Amino acid sequence: MKRNFTNWMGSLFGKPKQKATCCDCIKSLQLVVDGEATKQQEEYFLNHLDECMPCYNFYEVEKTVKQVLQNKIEKKSAPTHLAENIRSRLKSM
Ligand SMILES: [Zn+2]
Repeated sequence: MKRNFTNWMGSLFGKPKQKATCCDCIKSLQLVVDGEATKQQEEYFLNHLDECMPCYNFYEVEKTVKQVLQNKIEKKSAPTHLAENIRSRLKSM
């Protein structure tokens, strides 16, 4: 019975040996993309990507979005009205 339960859990969450879970990875994804993750977090994350296609795709999308945003910001400085808009939004929060 116990063994069956373990197998069932295994089929839901991957092999029990698998170090990282998707949930943990999604949590550290933002840190990795922002370059703020520790070496350990990054390794843990990248290990998981090797085994998990959905997380890999998710990471690629996040990374691309981040790059596009960075390029936009670097190439054109944000219009002042946009900056003011953001500032007033922050104030009202
Ligand atoms: Zn995953």
